[in-house]
Amino acid sequence: MIVLAGIMGLLMAVVMFSMRRSYPKSIRGLREWTIAPITCCASTVLFALRGVLPDLITIVIANMVLLQGCVFYYAGSQLFLGHPRDTRWWSVSIVAVGIVLFWFSAIQPNYAVRLAVFTLAIAALFAAHARLYLRHPLLHFGMRLMTGLLVVQALVAALRFVSVVLGAAGVGLLEASLFQSLYIVMYSLTALMLSIAGVLMATDRVRVEFEFLATHDPLTGVLNRRALFAFVEAEFARSQHAGTPLSLLMLDADHFKNINDAFGHQAGDEVLREMAQRLQSPLPAAARLGRYGGEEFLVALPGLSPEAARVVAERLREVLAAPFDASSLLAVAGIGRLTVSIGVAGVQGATDTLDAMLARADAALYRAKAQGRDRVESA
Ligand code: GH3
Ligand code: MG
Ligand code: MG
Repeated sequence: MIVLAGIMGLLMAVVMFSMRRSYPKSIRGLREWTIAPITCCASTVLFALRGVLPDLITIVIANMVLLQGCVFYYAGSQLFLGHPRDTRWWSVSIVAVGIVLFWFSAIQPNYAVRLAVFTLAIAALFAAHARLYLRHPLLHFGMRLMTGLLVVQALVAALRFVSVVLGAAGVGLLEASLFQSLYIVMYSLTALMLSIAGVLMATDRVRVEFEFLATHDPLTGVLNRRALFAFVEAEFARSQHAGTPLSLLMLDADHFKNINDAFGHQAGDEVLREMAQRLQSPLPAAARLGRYGGEEFLVALPGLSPEAARVVAERLREVLAAPFDASSLLAVAGIGRLTVSIGVAGVQGATDTLDAMLARADAALYRAKAQGRDRVESA
């Protein structure tokens, strides 16, 4: 059982290694999660050589290596969750555990004390590891599996510790008691199960990252045209079906070409980022903001009549027209402020189409431009 689990752990290390090579660098911790099962497997080999190699290696070093393997899993989780790697105190603890194990195997042999010290250390390590996850939102199945595994491992180790303190240590690692068998099965499967949870977590993370990239504009971070249209189409259908209002705002920056010409495209890009940021704050919760084209944005306002949408548009226009912060890069570069023109359109009855509505918003926008810019016009 122990040997098989060790081999499966090694296979998981191969999986982790190939994931680390092909996954984006933004997914951290995969290196530690590759080293962890290898380290755990190395400890299994050392345990198996009991009687062949000196006890110092098969007891003291083997247990230290197993603890270090679990510390590697912990370090991988720290990195994966965006924390700095911080396992210094665990390294110190492992050395301390090693000294105690050495004392109670070479100087004053006592299996019960060794088991108590080891189970206490590993219970604390799993508890710390589980606590790390419990302080994060457990968004996906992989994370919930990982957390569940760690909690169960911590509990099993703590129970084993209690049983040892109560005098039920048994006589050795491979003693055939029910509790010892359970304990061994749990620990043999640790590397395999933690690695599977890690693989699931990394896969979840990649999917979320790719989903974000596929739906968001890389420059401004707001929805891209495709994602925005998917939203608008669904809202339009809902509005037609339920008869609830829906309005669209079409925004276009005024004289944007001048900014590019006078200050360069990079300054223009920075202005677009600032625009997107300013647009987010005054929007109602149900609203969606997306980048429609170059310096054009579209805001969908479900539940708002064109009159109510006009009020939102006026507020957006004011927020955008405010001068750039004196300390901002844009102000320093000499760009004082930027205005926008906005066209508003709402759903008109049951025969309306989304294309017609967009065309009305566009026409209103061009009226705003023609009438001198920095203003809101309704269809
Ligand atoms: P108007 O008030 O009539 O809208 O004047 P405008 O200068 O804004 O005119 P227009 O909308 O035709 O020009 C848009 C300019 O926006 C043209 C293009 O160089 C610039 N632009 C479009 N996308 C980007 C971008 O991603 N970054 C930068 N820096 N400029 C962009
Ligand atoms: Mg334009
Ligand atoms: Mg423009």
